[in-house]
Amino acid sequence: MERRRRVMALAELQREEDQERTLRQEWARAAILEEQQSQTRQQFLDAMANSMWFNAQFVQQQTMDHYDVVCPFHHAGCDVVCARRDLDMHLKVN
Ligand SMILES: [Zn+2]
Repeated sequence: MERRRRVMALAELQREEDQERTLRQEWARAAILEEQQSQTRQQFLDAMANSMWFNAQFVQQQTMDHYDVVCPFHHAGCDVVCARRDLDMHLKVN
């Protein structure tokens, strides 16, 4: 009788241990999955941020290029007003 109770108790312990191990394994799997998803999210956000930054630089560059500027030699009698992107050319040929 005593021995039977001890065996039952041991079996109960074993079952609890198995349950706990299963829970730990499930938790570990969930944690790994979460980690992978968060890495994917991060990569997506990085790519997004990069393309937004690139786009902002591009727009800024375009705006600069189309901005009309007065020739730096205006005081020397040059009346040229041209787009920023054309100024280098103007200064080279004049
Ligand atoms: Zn000029």
